[in-house]
Amino acid sequence: MDLRDTPEEAEFRARLRAWLAENIPSEPEPETMPARFHYIVAWQKKLYSGGWVALSWPREYGGQGLGPVEESILNQELGRAGAPAAASFTFLGRSVLTHGTEEQKARYLPGFLSAEEIWCQGFSEPEAGSDLASLRTTAVPDGDEYVINGQKLWTSRGSFAQFCLVLARTGTKESRHRGITAFIVPTDTAGLSRRPLIMANGDEEFAEVFFDNVRIPAENMLGELNGGWKVTQATLAYERGAADLGYLAKYERMLAQISGIADKRGLGEDPGTTEAIGRVLTYLEVLRLHSMRRLSDRASGRPVGAETSIDKLVMTQTEQLLLHTALDVLGPEAMLATGGWFKKYLYSRAASIYGGTSQIQRNIISGRVLGLAE
Ligand SMILES: Cc1cc2nc3c(=O)[nH]c(=O)nc-3n(C[C@H](O)[C@H](O)[C@H](O)COP(=O)(O)OP(=O)(O)OC[C@H]3O[C@@H](n4cnc5c(N)ncnc54)[C@H](O)[C@@H]3O)c2cc1C
Repeated sequence: MDLRDTPEEAEFRARLRAWLAENIPSEPEPETMPARFHYIVAWQKKLYSGGWVALSWPREYGGQGLGPVEESILNQELGRAGAPAAASFTFLGRSVLTHGTEEQKARYLPGFLSAEEIWCQGFSEPEAGSDLASLRTTAVPDGDEYVINGQKLWTSRGSFAQFCLVLARTGTKESRHRGITAFIVPTDTAGLSRRPLIMANGDEEFAEVFFDNVRIPAENMLGELNGGWKVTQATLAYERGAADLGYLAKYERMLAQISGIADKRGLGEDPGTTEAIGRVLTYLEVLRLHSMRRLSDRASGRPVGAETSIDKLVMTQTEQLLLHTALDVLGPEAMLATGGWFKKYLYSRAASIYGGTSQIQRNIISGRVLGLAE
């Protein structure tokens, strides 16, 4: 694969850069929820009206019908410009795109992409995180409805979302992954309640979600009855496929800021500091080459699968080393300095947990990618 932009891609990049220069919010991202949530929703709405959302999705579902290369250029330019994160978790929309009926796609995808309707992911439970197949929330049929009872935990944006993609047990207790079904649950349904959880960095990113005889129409089932594991695997593969050029651009930007701070503090020639920054640069280069390989896979139409666990591990290691280095450079001032470095450092610790822990990614790589016996 030729990694340079074609003339068309270069034109696309220039047009996007010009749009970003005009439209990127000038006011800083609020530090805490819910102000930050409203800020990122407003940003996604702006991106959507500019035609910069879901570039590689089919046009009939609100996408732009372009390819993975344009999608990658978009992520790269957003990262480079320091744009806010998207409000919607794209991997949840991908689940509807992949497993939804025509009616479901028509009903849910436009609101999802335009950020009029925000979704959250109701997978993890108090006793079911890594071992998701042991989940205990139940969905029992009653006429043309299902009645859901149980609890979800660590539901990101759960306090704010209008819809939750919920995994529930529809088979016997012992059925494990063969007895799970995915449902689209409006969060304003009677019997559903939410309680915000405060994270170590002080943020209110996620919630506990409780289901007390929550009744939803059977047509809200996503995929087949007891076919929820297939939906789960596809959703998680997209969630873990983090190694795109957007992350790289964001990390490069942060490393440039850290190097600038080191210079200002007279550490530019300090051997320990230069070695630490050099180590991050090496990780960034590995991430860059890995991202290019992944982009080349997508451009040649290879489906997204278990190998995205490698993406997630490489991304996690890079982010954690980068933020660790930031704290080393800033020292105790990290707690006071502007730029929110300590908060970012704390959040980087979560990278080896959300979307499945690093240990679980290694299990998947050994079992499903390398074919080694577990
Ligand atoms: C910031 C953040 C956002 C999140 N957002 C969401 C969300 O939106 N929706 C959602 O459903 N969930 C979400 N989660 C939950 C996340 O998916 C779970 O925390 C994660 O899967 C781990 O589950 P657990 O916390 O129950 O830990 P456990 O599964 O109890 O694991 C504890 C430890 O044991 C290790 N371990 C467990 N089993 C094995 C094994 N078989 N082999 C090796 N080691 C093992 C784990 O690696 C870990 O170190 C989020 C988590 C975080 C931190």
